[in-house]
Amino acid sequence: MNQTIFDKILRGEIPSDKVYEDEWVYAFRDIAPRAPVHVLVIPKKKLKSFAELGSADSLDLGEYFKAIAHVASILGLENDGYRVIFNHGENAGQTVDYLHGHILGGRPLGFLAH
Ligand code: AMP
Repeated sequence: MNQTIFDKILRGEIPSDKVYEDEWVYAFRDIAPRAPVHVLVIPKKKLKSFAELGSADSLDLGEYFKAIAHVASILGLENDGYRVIFNHGENAGQTVDYLHGHILGGRPLGFLAH
């Protein structure tokens, strides 16, 4: 499978600012943050994008989404609120073909970015 920058981060070949890791996920700060808190969460079992969710194992997916909520809580975002974004494909501006949820918070967020 095509090796993306996130494959390399997961293998420790490229440095990353890790905020959380468990059996299911790896979470690290986005290198170009769009909000005061901007963290990416990737599943350790690779999927290329949100559009592949249908072929994934339900347990893996459940643990992945639970972990995203857990990371948001660790980051202290639960009270004030946060957003989780998945970009799929060109129109959404997906640049890395490795499923990643963006957790954004730390300020009021507009609904749609340009
Ligand atoms: P997307 O546009 O949804 O594919 O998001 C990819 C994200 O990965 C962007 O927000 C980038 O800033 C971020 N990114 C790219 N390279 C790195 C890296 N080496 N470490 C952390 N974040 C990265």
